[in-house]
Amino acid sequence: MEWFDWIFEVGFGTQILLALLAKYLLYVAFKKASELTAHADANMLTSIVIASFNLVAVYFFVDDVNDFLQAQYDALGIPTLDPAIWDGLPLFVVCIIGIITKDFADYWSHRAMHTKWGWPTHAAHHSDTHVNAFTGLRVHFLESFLMTMAYVLLLTWMQIPEIIPIVALFYAVQGIYIHLDLDWDHGRFKYLFASPRYHRWHHADVPEAYGKNLASVVPLFDVMFGTYYNPGVCKEEMGALKTGVPDKNPLLIYIYPFREWADLIRDEVTKLSEKLRKSRTKS
Ligand SMILES: [Zn+2]
Ligand SMILES: [Zn+2]
Repeated sequence: MEWFDWIFEVGFGTQILLALLAKYLLYVAFKKASELTAHADANMLTSIVIASFNLVAVYFFVDDVNDFLQAQYDALGIPTLDPAIWDGLPLFVVCIIGIITKDFADYWSHRAMHTKWGWPTHAAHHSDTHVNAFTGLRVHFLESFLMTMAYVLLLTWMQIPEIIPIVALFYAVQGIYIHLDLDWDHGRFKYLFASPRYHRWHHADVPEAYGKNLASVVPLFDVMFGTYYNPGVCKEEMGALKTGVPDKNPLLIYIYPFREWADLIRDEVTKLSEKLRKSRTKS
């Protein structure tokens, strides 16, 4: 038994309670008097409801998914990295390499989710008009599932599945930290480690910030691929109300992707039939 196995051993209810308690303590510790509004409470509650939808489905099956993927790799003979390359490296170095590699992969999946067809999956996370410690929990089941599968797949391919629980714990804490309503910027380290200010710009509901600051941990990826945006203190409105994403009704947020995709498909069909009609009248 490893020292971090307690995360999986304590049970589902305890995990949720611990996570919520940690978030609430952080919220209280860092809140400003101006934040104590019904607006903030309603948004926090929405995040908690959405997170509860997801928890059972995703976080609890990480171990099973990992075993399943490993079995597929073995059965299909898909080449993986040679596990021997990690021999002799301290655990924390392996974790850092795992996190940076995952962040690189996450950068591109996050970028894909900021395109027309990907956006519906990710809109739930941007629906919060009061970004705070709880916003990290506000992720649609579809996104949660895809992201979890992606990193388990990646770390299994790298032959370091044993760091999955540590990486999961790191991202849980990091997810709280970058969403705190604080103007922390990390000074000279701001390109190395994502700050609350950097991620606040990602949630700003202004066109110049749309699709910017896509990395979760290493902003350097944004600098490298031209999506870094951090002009100073972020005092813009949060959320995605301007693009029609509701902010407080969990049910509407949950069904948003399906309605949005239905609209997109309808648009495409209309465009296509319009094209066909035109080409027919021409000929
Ligand atoms: Zn985003
Ligand atoms: Zn966020």
